[in-house]
Amino acid sequence: MSFSTRFAPSPTGLLHLGHAYSAILAHDSARAVGGRFQLRIEDIDATRCRPEFEAALYEDLAWLGLRWPEPVRRQSQHLEEYAAALETLRQLGVVYRCFLTRREIAASSLSAPHEPGEGPDGIIYTGPQHPMSADEEEARMARGESFAWRLSIKYSQDLLGEDFARLVFVERDDGSNTEREITARPELLGDVILGRKDTPTSYHLSVVHDDALQGITQVIRGEDLRASTHIHVLLQRLLRLPTPVYRHHRLLTGPDGKRYAKRDRSLTLAALREAGVSAADIRSRIGLPV
Ligand code: GLU
Repeated sequence: MSFSTRFAPSPTGLLHLGHAYSAILAHDSARAVGGRFQLRIEDIDATRCRPEFEAALYEDLAWLGLRWPEPVRRQSQHLEEYAAALETLRQLGVVYRCFLTRREIAASSLSAPHEPGEGPDGIIYTGPQHPMSADEEEARMARGESFAWRLSIKYSQDLLGEDFARLVFVERDDGSNTEREITARPELLGDVILGRKDTPTSYHLSVVHDDALQGITQVIRGEDLRASTHIHVLLQRLLRLPTPVYRHHRLLTGPDGKRYAKRDRSLTLAALREAGVSAADIRSRIGLPV
């Protein structure tokens, strides 16, 4: 199997040094073995994504010396594909409508406390004690109440039986570059959101769908997404998609010891470029070979 990886930013802000590390690592890993590096725009959240950030990220990545095949896949243009994947999961009976608000979940004893590194969902919801009756569900829908489609760990477990405990993936260690097999524990993330009343997808669903569609064999991304991988492996199993090898790289920290974040204006690639920093300087600054 040939090596194929990607960088999949969300255009919700300007790229910073942390993004540069992730993108260059993926790009160089592919180049080292004659593999493929793709760029994908994860712009399903229409309220947070902006065209100017998308335009800026193409510019930043090209300035870093990265090249990628065109056309670039933009998730917002493929919502019907994610809707079809969600429908497949509905047919399997592993998703349900959840009408609880974030506040209600946070207040409920059914939620587990959020720990760092648990992925983009924040709060963990361990699922309802009893399924909602069809009558109540219909009544709430008729009242136009909002809901989220959640992946049920319990129903997935019921469907997969013993195989649920045998969901495995290969992780390439960031430091030693060796591979080891990990047993996925999707229950650690609880019943994650896969879609909403008016949005047929979420980060988890679209990323799994697209990695398979784009033939990604190696996912290289920050260790903040390590916990999400456990859900992704379950989704791959349910949707009968291949599981790539995962490498979760360390997260860069700034002089204050904190992770780079979109709020650090002065450390955006655009600001550094304007200040006269070169692409080679960026590589050496983040500890990657020039
Ligand atoms: N779009 C995600 C982000 O910007 C990354 C997704 C991934 O690499 O799996 O955090």
